[in-house]
Amino acid sequence: MTCFYLGTHRPRWLEKANVPLFISYSTLSKYKHGGDHFPKGLTLWAGDSGAYSELDEHGEWTVDQDVYGGAVYRFMEDIGTPPMFFSPQDWMCEPHILAKTGLTVRDHQEYTIDSVVYLRREFPHAPWIPVLQGWTMQDYLHHLEMYRLAGFDLAAEPLVGLGSVCRRQSTSEIGAIVTMLHSRGLRLHGFGVKLKGLEKYGHMLTSADSLAWSYDARKGGIKLVECAVENAHIGPCNNCFRYAMQYRDKVLEALASPKQFSMPLEFSA
Ligand SMILES: [Zn+2]
Repeated sequence: MTCFYLGTHRPRWLEKANVPLFISYSTLSKYKHGGDHFPKGLTLWAGDSGAYSELDEHGEWTVDQDVYGGAVYRFMEDIGTPPMFFSPQDWMCEPHILAKTGLTVRDHQEYTIDSVVYLRREFPHAPWIPVLQGWTMQDYLHHLEMYRLAGFDLAAEPLVGLGSVCRRQSTSEIGAIVTMLHSRGLRLHGFGVKLKGLEKYGHMLTSADSLAWSYDARKGGIKLVECAVENAHIGPCNNCFRYAMQYRDKVLEALASPKQFSMPLEFSA
């Protein structure tokens, strides 16, 4: 059974959602440490690094690794419930992002491993997960090998993040990559997987998250009739709990109807 984390820009939902939530570093870091109003975690949650926005805007990580690790410790203390996992300061490999950083896929893969190693050593009480990054099938296989050489056994990890997934047009390409990694015994978390992707290969993911509902609502100016009638909020439903939960229902439906079964495929590295 795939666990779905509903992405949100509203940490306050930790107190009312009663479903697993996915919240980014940048969203959580807007709250003051020790403040009376820091949302308390009464539900399962996991934390994202927000790497895409960071690299897209700055072409590098502008958050120091000690600041990042320290902040995640503070989130854990303030929220009161440890996250199921937290992403390291990973480096995604979309061509658009590579153009921004001026680095190669290999560089991004190396820096991602460096971050996992550093954060696990310096901040051992937070549940950092290794994240696989790449663009082609060969890239992901190569990153798997890089992790092995760095002393990781990813098949023995409770969870491995699968990055550079959410901005892809082709779901069949990522489906093949998920199938390959799943066949190697990896328990994967798919970052920002689309509904169509979940329908196809969701059953091969241990967990997934999505904030697509919020982007879609903002971009499309979507407002539910109920929200308009009740005047529930200003503007579209991009931060609307009701709309988010309706999206979550669609995700669970997609996950319940897999169309493609995993095969013990073997790809040469
Ligand atoms: Zn709404």
